[in-house]
Amino acid sequence: MPKENLKFQAESKELLDLMINSIYSNKEIFLRELISNASDAIDKRRFESLNSNGKIPVIEKPEIKIIADKENKTLTIKDDGIGMNKSELINNIGTIARSGSKEFVEKLKEAKDSENLDIIGQFGVGFYSAFMVSKKVVIETKSLFENQGYRFESEGSESYSLEEIEKDDIGTTITLYLKDNDEDEKYDSFLDYYTISYLVEKYSNYVRYPIMMDHIEKEIKKDESGKEIEGEYVDKVVTSKLNSMIPLWKKNKKDVKDEEYNDFYKNSFHDYLDPLFTLPLNIEGMISYQGLIYVPSHLRNESYNLDEAGLSLYAKNVFIMDKCKDLLPHYLFFLKGVVDSSDLNLNISREMLQENKNIIKIKNNIENKFISSLKDLKDSDKEKFNKIYDLFGVNLKYGIYESYGSKNDILKDVIVFKSLNHNDDYIDLKTYVNEMKEDQKDIYFACGESIEEIKLLPEINRFKKDNIDVLLCDKNVDEFTLRTLKEYDKHEFKSISEIDNDNNLNEEDKKRLEELNINHKRELDDLKKALEGKVSDVSFSLSLYDAPVSLVSKDGLSLNMEKILNNIDPTNPNNINSEKILKINPDHEIFKKLSLIKNEEEIKDYATILYNEALVLGGLEIKDKEEFFKALNKIMMK
Ligand code: ADP
Repeated sequence: MPKENLKFQAESKELLDLMINSIYSNKEIFLRELISNASDAIDKRRFESLNSNGKIPVIEKPEIKIIADKENKTLTIKDDGIGMNKSELINNIGTIARSGSKEFVEKLKEAKDSENLDIIGQFGVGFYSAFMVSKKVVIETKSLFENQGYRFESEGSESYSLEEIEKDDIGTTITLYLKDNDEDEKYDSFLDYYTISYLVEKYSNYVRYPIMMDHIEKEIKKDESGKEIEGEYVDKVVTSKLNSMIPLWKKNKKDVKDEEYNDFYKNSFHDYLDPLFTLPLNIEGMISYQGLIYVPSHLRNESYNLDEAGLSLYAKNVFIMDKCKDLLPHYLFFLKGVVDSSDLNLNISREMLQENKNIIKIKNNIENKFISSLKDLKDSDKEKFNKIYDLFGVNLKYGIYESYGSKNDILKDVIVFKSLNHNDDYIDLKTYVNEMKEDQKDIYFACGESIEEIKLLPEINRFKKDNIDVLLCDKNVDEFTLRTLKEYDKHEFKSISEIDNDNNLNEEDKKRLEELNINHKRELDDLKKALEGKVSDVSFSLSLYDAPVSLVSKDGLSLNMEKILNNIDPTNPNNINSEKILKINPDHEIFKKLSLIKNEEEIKDYATILYNEALVLGGLEIKDKEEFFKALNKIMMK
C-alpha cells in the first residue's frame, strides 16, 4: 500500500483547530488522555483473550511505557493494547465517533470566549489534546486481529497520512513531536522525568496497568576492584513505575478526596461538569463488589438514549464491558458508574449477563443502596436532594409506574411533590400525612400542565379556604404514579376533580342543595338536554366559589389522565372519553341570568359556552371550536 493522504472529517478538524490554537494553560491534561486511551486498549485486549477459549493468549504483563527523547524532543506513549487496523485508524482517529466530543464542540461554539478555557479543562477531549503540545503526532499501531502494522502521521492541519509498516508487537505507540517553547509554555518540560511522574500521579494514579518510565540516575563510579571513586559519577538507567495502580473504587472512601472522585467521573464518563452526587459502594456478604455510582449534574444522552446507558463492569479487576445495562433497573438509567466484583467469572459472556444470578443480586443491591442514600440525602441536604429531584424525579416516579407497584415500598418515601400549603416547595408523602387535618381521610392531589394552571382549577378553592393541603402534580407521570401507589400509610389518593366536594357538607348546606334541586329542576334538565352526548349529568355544587362551572369525572379517570392517555396516541379513533359531570355554581351571576332564559336555542348557546369554559379550566381543549364560537358570537350580538 503506498502512502495515502486523507482529510479529517469536518467536525474533527474543528476540534483539532481548537486544540492547536488553544491558549488553555492546563495543556498537561494531554498525558492523562493518552494514558487513559492506552489503558482502555489493554482492557479491550485482555477481554478478547479471556473470551477466546484460549485461542488468543492472555498477555502476561501488559504495561504502558513513557519514553522521553530529549535530543529529538519527542515524547512517546507505548501500550500493549488491542491496537488498530486501517479502518479503525480512519474511524477512530480521523473522525469524531464519540457523541461526547460532538457535544463538546457544540458547547464550545455556544460558550463565550472567556468560558472556553474552562470547558477544555473539564472535558475529556481525548486523543486530539495531543495537538495542544505537539507540532506533529505519529501513531504506529498493530491490531490484535491483523498481521499488518500502520503508521498515521499528522501535523494537525487538514489532513493526515497512512502507510503500512513493519511492526513486531501488537499495540500502539504514539510519538509526540513537541512544540517549541514560547513565552506561555515550556514544552520541553514534558520531557522531564519528574514532571511526568508528577503528572501521572496527579491524573493517572489509579490506572490499573503499570506506567513505566526510564530515567537516569547518577551513581558513584567504582574502580575495577569495586571500590567507589569519590567525586566521580556514571549514568545509570533506572526504570520506575509511576502509578500506584489501585483503582479508585477499591480505595477506602476516607482516603479519597471529593476532587478525585469528581475527576474520575469526568475522565471516565466524558463529562465537563462535576457530578451532583457520588456514592462509593463496598459491599461484602451474599455478593461482594466495589463500585462508584454517580448522579450527573445535568441531563445527558443516557436519560433518553438507551445505547448510552449502563455502568462499567469489571470482574476481579479486569474490564468486562462498559454501558452494562443489566446492572440498573430501567428507571435508574441516568446513573453513571463502575462496578467491580470478585464473585463474577472473567469469561462471563455479554449475552448471559441478564440471567446471571450474581449480576441480578448486584443490580438489586445497587438499586436499594442508591435509593436509601437518596432518602438520607432528603433529610441531610435538602438543597442537593431537590437539585437531583428537579433533574431525575420523573425517573423515580416512573419507577413506581413501570414496576406495576412492585417497587412501591422502595420508592414511596423518596418521591416528593410540590404542594399548595408549602408555597410550591417539595414535600414527601410522610410530611403530607403528618400535617393532615384530624378528620381528613384522604390525600388530595390536583393535576395540570403547570403549577399556575392547577391553582386556577375551580375545585381547588375549597381546599384553599379550608386550609387543606393538596399535592400539585404538574408532570404527566405524577397521576400515573399516585394511581399505582393507591395509598400511603392507609390513606388513599384522591384527585380533587374526581371527588364529590359536596360530600362533606353541613346539614344546612345539604338542605339547601336539596331545595335547589327541586326549585331549579327545569334549568338542570334544560342544560342536561343541551349537553347531551357531552356530559352524563348536570348538578349543583356549593364548592365552586368564584367559578361559574366545573367539570368532574364520574369514575376513576381524571380529566388530566384522559388528556395524557389521548396524547400518547392522538390518532387513535377510540380516544378515551371519561364520563363527565358538569357542576354548576348556583350562587354565580351567570346561573341567575340563565334561570331567566326560556328559549331552547339560547339555553343551548349558554350551555355550550359554559361547558367549554369548564373544559379549558380543567386543562382540556375545546373540542368543537366552530360550535363554541358560533354560540359565543350569538350571545355577544344580543
Ligand atoms: P475516546 O478515547 O474518548 O473514545 P479518543 O479521541 O481519545 O476518544 O480516541 C478515539 C478512539 O481511538 C478510541 O475510542 C479508541 O477506539 C481509539 N484509540 C485511541 N487511542 C488508542 C490506543 N492507544 N489503542 C487503541 N485504540 C486507541
